[in-house]
Amino acid sequence: MSQNSGGKGIRIQAAVLRKRGGPLKIQSLEMEGPRDEEVLVRLVSSGICHTDIDFLDGWEEADNAVVLGHEGAGVVERVGKSVKSVRRGDPVVLSYQSCGHCRQCRKGHPAHCQHFYEANFGFQRLDGSNALHRSGVRGHFFGQSSFATHSLATERNLVKVSKDLPLEVLAPLGCGLQTGAGTVLNSLAVSKGTSLAVFGTGAVGLAAVMAGRLVGAHPIIGVDRKPKRLELALQLGATQAIDNRRQDVAARILHVTGRGVDYVVETTASPEMHQLAVEVLNPHGVVALLTGESGTDSLPAGRKTLGIIQGDAVPQKFIPKLIRLYQAGQFPFDRLLKFYDFSNINRAIADARRGDTIKPVLRISTV
Ligand SMILES: [Zn+2]
Ligand SMILES: [Zn+2]
Repeated sequence: MSQNSGGKGIRIQAAVLRKRGGPLKIQSLEMEGPRDEEVLVRLVSSGICHTDIDFLDGWEEADNAVVLGHEGAGVVERVGKSVKSVRRGDPVVLSYQSCGHCRQCRKGHPAHCQHFYEANFGFQRLDGSNALHRSGVRGHFFGQSSFATHSLATERNLVKVSKDLPLEVLAPLGCGLQTGAGTVLNSLAVSKGTSLAVFGTGAVGLAAVMAGRLVGAHPIIGVDRKPKRLELALQLGATQAIDNRRQDVAARILHVTGRGVDYVVETTASPEMHQLAVEVLNPHGVVALLTGESGTDSLPAGRKTLGIIQGDAVPQKFIPKLIRLYQAGQFPFDRLLKFYDFSNINRAIADARRGDTIKPVLRISTV
């Protein structure tokens, strides 16, 4: 559907946000071609993450029109002069952006990039420019804005994947699944026989449950208010499920673990659940907060909270690892997905809001 209109840039279709809460409208926009360090990706699919919905709901007129989306997967269409690791035709999964220059990036910890906020939530390149400026729209969300037919990414936020794998399935690895699994495997380094509670069994929480099973955590306790999601949590590795609308979470966790739980992965962003997470810890327990909070509460001695970003994952290493686990049947994240045509993006968002769909994935084009 794209055509290169001479020096004027590339015509793309993108779902544009111009009104708080939506709906998004698919419109034709003009995007600059890739700069020397950039990669133009034709998107095949994109996951929808709760962060997209949070931005949609928090949007204000002063923010200008924006293109969201940050779980893209597609095929490289064109590369800038200095790009080395991918070429035209390569299948890629897109992840979060980092600056590549700061101390943390140089040390190999891009999730702790000192410019993480600007690089992912600035809706512009780090130099302040914006490839969609000619259409009066802002892009570059997570270095991708993947609710579109095309994205401009960089080598830092793309991961080359095998040609044999379905790109539409791989898209959500770039944020939600990486975050949930990375929290358990990297940030907390949960080990065999330790107890794990996961608050909120959406996509991020279920990735944490699957990762917990992988390392042999026991028990693995899923907490949610949607019985259907709890049922899935049990199928994917949870040994106990607690419905927090019907059951006393603290009492149940104490009963199951004896003296409190070793780790809580808190994905709900509810102050009540945050408080509860701290209460159910054993004296050396840790709460992982995946909700943008910094985790600086004062807690009873020994216990701590950690604010976690992207599961401390380096996408180019971690996403291939998750794909290998998926192929071995040990990380069956495809069970969380439901597919929608790009034109039905607003229905996909509505289903995700209600919690009816755990991980919506948009089909944008065919391979
Ligand atoms: Zn950096
Ligand atoms: Zn996300």
